[in-house]
Parts: sequence; C-alpha cells; structure tokens
Amino acid sequence: MTETASELLFEVTDLKQWIYCPRVLYYRYCLPEIRPTTDLIAAGIRSHADEAGREERRSLRSYGLQEGERAFDVRLRSAALGLRGRLDLAIAVPDRAAPNAEAMVVEYKDSEKPAGPHFKLQLAAYALLLEEAWALPVRRGYIYSIPLRETEIISIGAALRQKVRQAVAAMRVAVTGERMPDAPASRRPCVSCEFRRFCNDVV
Ligand code: SF4
Repeated sequence: MTETASELLFEVTDLKQWIYCPRVLYYRYCLPEIRPTTDLIAAGIRSHADEAGREERRSLRSYGLQEGERAFDVRLRSAALGLRGRLDLAIAVPDRAAPNAEAMVVEYKDSEKPAGPHFKLQLAAYALLLEEAWALPVRRGYIYSIPLRETEIISIGAALRQKVRQAVAAMRVAVTGERMPDAPASRRPCVSCEFRRFCNDVV
C-alpha cells in the first residue's frame, strides 16, 4: 500500500466484495501478490464481453424506453467519491445534450437470482459516478440477467446512495489501517472463496 487515503480509488466491484466479506478487500489491497485468478473469474469476464456484443443489437425496449443514446463499456472515475469502474452500459434519455435529459445505468449479471444488496450497491455506485461524469441526474438503473434475458429495474434512492458513501469510507479505514477485518458472522461465503486457504483461523 503506497497511496494515501485521499489518493485511494476503489473499484466499484470492490463494494460487492466488501459486503460479501471485508477480508477479501483486505487481501486484495494489502496483500495483492496472493490473489489467485480462478477459472470462474475468467469465465465471468468472457460472458460480459459476449453480452456487450448482443446488447448492441438489443432494443431499448428491454428497458422500457422508446428512445435514448447508448454508450457501452463506459470508464468512470471520481476522486471525490473515491471510486472508479467500468459500467456495462449508460443510457441518456433522450440524449446527452437535450434539455432535461436524464441518464440510466445498466449492469449485466450471470445469475438467474434476483439482484441482491451487493448488486444494488454496485449499481448505485455507477449511478453516482455517471452523474458526476455526465452532469445528468440518474434516478434508476437496470440489472440485466444474461441467462434469463430479463431486466430488473432498481431505483437509485437516497438511502442506497448513502450506503455507497458509508461503505467507501469504511473500506478506506480498513485498507489504510492495514488491519485484517473480522470474518463475516456466517461461514457460508467461505465455502467457495478464492482466499479460503489464507483464512485458517476461521475455516
Ligand atoms: S475464506 Fe471466508 S473469511 Fe476468509 S476471505 Fe473468504 S469469505 Fe472471508
């Protein structure tokens, strides 16, 4: 760790891992050399790339929209938020230059399950980043299930925004302090965790 707290930019995907288990974030940032690259991670990256190609042919009607300007694979970063990430799809309605335009964020997921709190938090983080980058309000987002080919709409409300900010602040304290966080109360996440062999105090 060489960055100071004010220079540290987390990946949006770190939020999901933070909720899953704070130790995962600790390993990633404080002990980066131990991280394995699993087949599961590689498969996930491929699946998203394939979906981006299909999205270009998919209609905006998947999101209940008649019109809109789409931008794929949008790189976003904000020193103020302490976050950076690559959003699967941003949509401006009716377009970015229009008066009273608004924007929406779309993320793909490889699961058939309804979006859990991790996904919603991540989507809200992208919404905050896109608001800053495009200077447009983002009131809602969508999570598109690749296997089901279905879209779930998520409202980007004040409580969710606040959770993003609180999570980033807590992550910053954990990483800059370089102290291993406690394991989660449930051991369920440990079953398929890539860092399992480093947590022999709990598994
Ligand atoms: S093995 Fe369990 S406690 Fe350790 S990082 Fe993974 S989920 Fe967290």
